[in-house]
Amino acid sequence: MSELTELYAEIAQCTKCALAEGRNLTVPGEGPEDAEMMMIGEAPGYHENRLGRPFVGAAGRFLEQLLASIDMSREDVYICNVIKCRPPNNRDPLPHEIEACSPYLDRQIELVKPRVIITLGRHSMARYLPKATISKVHGKPVRVGEWVVVPMFHPAAALHQPKYRAQIEEDFLKIPQILKQLERFPEAQLGQQAEQLSLFE
Ligand code: URA
Repeated sequence: MSELTELYAEIAQCTKCALAEGRNLTVPGEGPEDAEMMMIGEAPGYHENRLGRPFVGAAGRFLEQLLASIDMSREDVYICNVIKCRPPNNRDPLPHEIEACSPYLDRQIELVKPRVIITLGRHSMARYLPKATISKVHGKPVRVGEWVVVPMFHPAAALHQPKYRAQIEEDFLKIPQILKQLERFPEAQLGQQAEQLSLFE
């Protein structure tokens, strides 16, 4: 059993916050254990909670279209969320829920070691760039410690709002170039350091 599979089993037993009481299934995340790219959304919704898989509803179909636009599929990418259980009525995750779930996400990142982390939406962006405003930083790679993070709009928001949709579509088209650059120059000063942008506390 791989360490990631062991982690999924641990998450399935988690009772660290009250979301455990209302869930059907935990949604730990999925994808290749050595994926180059990790995408982090917010929280499971209705369909994810039923199936135990991330991004399987309307936002997930849009995410698949976005990946297809750069000749990728969801099987190429590690996909997960900031929190692993569905909040009631799809409300935003609460700070203590994000905090309780945080070690799981940290371990996923440590195990997968992605070349690039794409944050989808405010909550996952805030984990790395707490002071950033998404409309200013979306699509721009930022080095945060040992990771390169590219914040993007959330596909669920982009799906219904033409302004965000055009932006996320455009931002996705930058991914192949970012990956290529990181492959050739893993330590390159891609973008700016989060600290220099005053985005990090
Ligand atoms: N589905 C997920 O798994 N996460 C989101 O953030 C939205 C939909």
